[in-house]
Amino acid sequence: MSRNAESTAFRSALEVIRAVEPRVADAIGAELTDQRESLKLIASENYASPATLLAMGNWFSDKYAEGTVGRRFYAGCQNVDTVEALAAEHARELFGAAHAYVQPHSGIDANLVAFWAVLADRVESPALKKAQVRQVNDLTEADWFALRRELGNQRMLGMSLDAGGHLTHGFRPNISGKMFDQRSYGTDPTTGLIDYDRVAEAAREFKPLILVGGYSAYPRKVNFRILREIADSVGATFMVDMAHFAGLVAGKVFTGDFDPVPHAHIVTTTTHKSLRGPRGGMVLCQPELADQVDRGCPMVLGGPLPHVMAAKAVALAEARRPDFADYAQRIVDNAQALADGLLRRGATLVTGGTDNHLVLIDVSGYGLTGRQAEQALLDSGIVTNRNSVPQDPNGAWYTSGIRIGTPALTTRGLGTAEMDQTAELIHTVLTQTTAGANADGTPSKAKYTLDADLADKISRQAADLLAPHPLYPAVDLA
Ligand SMILES: *Cc1c(COP(=O)(O)O)cnc(C)c1O
Repeated sequence: MSRNAESTAFRSALEVIRAVEPRVADAIGAELTDQRESLKLIASENYASPATLLAMGNWFSDKYAEGTVGRRFYAGCQNVDTVEALAAEHARELFGAAHAYVQPHSGIDANLVAFWAVLADRVESPALKKAQVRQVNDLTEADWFALRRELGNQRMLGMSLDAGGHLTHGFRPNISGKMFDQRSYGTDPTTGLIDYDRVAEAAREFKPLILVGGYSAYPRKVNFRILREIADSVGATFMVDMAHFAGLVAGKVFTGDFDPVPHAHIVTTTTHKSLRGPRGGMVLCQPELADQVDRGCPMVLGGPLPHVMAAKAVALAEARRPDFADYAQRIVDNAQALADGLLRRGATLVTGGTDNHLVLIDVSGYGLTGRQAEQALLDSGIVTNRNSVPQDPNGAWYTSGIRIGTPALTTRGLGTAEMDQTAELIHTVLTQTTAGANADGTPSKAKYTLDADLADKISRQAADLLAPHPLYPAVDLA
């Protein structure tokens, strides 16, 4: 295929869109420019391949396909069956999973599918049994009352939010925290690492139905073999949400005890983070949970998105190629180079470094909140996000941390030398930013000052780092 084909494809698509609503075509073009120009260190973002992006923009979007491959509630799904079966096959082969369900629209949706599957499989409920085998119309009011009580009184043990867990792991702002009675395990206050003995203790005391592993902001490997042993010791189902690090599992950077797939009963993920696919989600599971997982739509999901499943099949095929393993290893090499560069310059990092794709800087050492640091970096052309650190004194809104990740820049081709230069830019901005004060003289958690000339200079240096590594180099919209 000629590189020219990519240019022609996107240019033609924009021409067609422009004829209807030129402002949308312009916004799509502007988004490419913005993404090309930004030093993107958001740990959850990436750049999907042109093939993945193009697989989403077509008439598969027009098809309803509730149900599963070969068992649809709509006629004429043979081509949807083809792409859904392909995506699932690639997922099973890539991850060594017994079963893959590729319909979830996002990571949160994948978690809801998993929660339902575990509840339906595990809750000892005569009412639920009746609901599964009989027509739901046959259930009495008393049956429904019992069903709601039994399903609504289950326990979940997951990683605490400030230690890097995710809202959907039973936290109250999320539906999962309203469905489940939740308790969380944190990290050791001195090392910042998961203390497996404490997890085991919490599991013994709390006896959760589901033990959840996985995170959005923990910069280290997790030993899933040990977590499975803990789950087994209390009869819990072990679920892992690998939304952030699925690419490192796919690329065989995380193997053995650190690969969740052989250890967990059920694994959920996004497909658009380190896995570098389309925006979406996925569930992998042991055979005994497969039937319940496959009920995801219409149990908790809206109709499947066949165009996105087509793109998942493309992206998963890409992830099975040998160069994806090379990509995954470079993600981690880059994160470690970034961490080393920051440490050498005097930054404080949660856990003192990283062995995955992300680094969590404790910016209180610079006298800043996460909010101030995030904005000052953004002024300087560096895109990050603020994040809590363990036991964060500034809470979840202002925070004391900055989370940075390398999947996106690694896709662009930046390497360890550029990561060291990136560390220099970040450190310079953070040392030159000063916290501001409120009108009454008290310290502000949001205001800050950073010399505008310095911010401009750093922005130019950030652009210089990106210049040799153009994003979508074959795509020319001009
Ligand atoms: C990003 C993330 C999610 C949510 O994914 P969406 O696709 O945004 O719904 C769920 N769990 C974890 C651990 C995540 O990091």
